[in-house]
Amino acid sequence: MAFAQVAQLMRQECKSCGYSTTELIEVCPQCRRAFIASDAMRRSGYLQIALGAFLVLLMSGIGALLGKIMIFPAPGGSHFTGGPREILMIVGVFGLVISVGLAIMLNGYWQIRFGRRNKYLVYFIFAFLLAFVGFGYFLKMKAKLG
Ligand SMILES: [Zn+2]
Repeated sequence: MAFAQVAQLMRQECKSCGYSTTELIEVCPQCRRAFIASDAMRRSGYLQIALGAFLVLLMSGIGALLGKIMIFPAPGGSHFTGGPREILMIVGVFGLVISVGLAIMLNGYWQIRFGRRNKYLVYFIFAFLLAFVGFGYFLKMKAKLG
């Protein structure tokens, strides 16, 4: 997902004056009222739950398929040639994506329930996304060197 899209998901509007920001604030800087989440915030909560569930289901599905190929290689078909290190790496990547999916779902639920984001969950999601991008970079570099 592009960072612009993530930033769009982060955008929220003040219900009193319409001030719009991507910052995690509790008091509106324009009208000084408690920052109340708009309907857009709740919609984005449902969207996040759907997105998170999609990620978790997708990765679980691919994971199950990969596991099947690893354990029961089809004769003449695709089979897994990696060693324990590759298996660990794949499990790591899948675990990472599923964790992000769960965190996104949880944050979506939080938004609907409490009307605002759980900033720790947002930080957690961003940290994982960064780790994921870093990991992808690392794999690219490794592929170039190897
Ligand atoms: Zn306001």
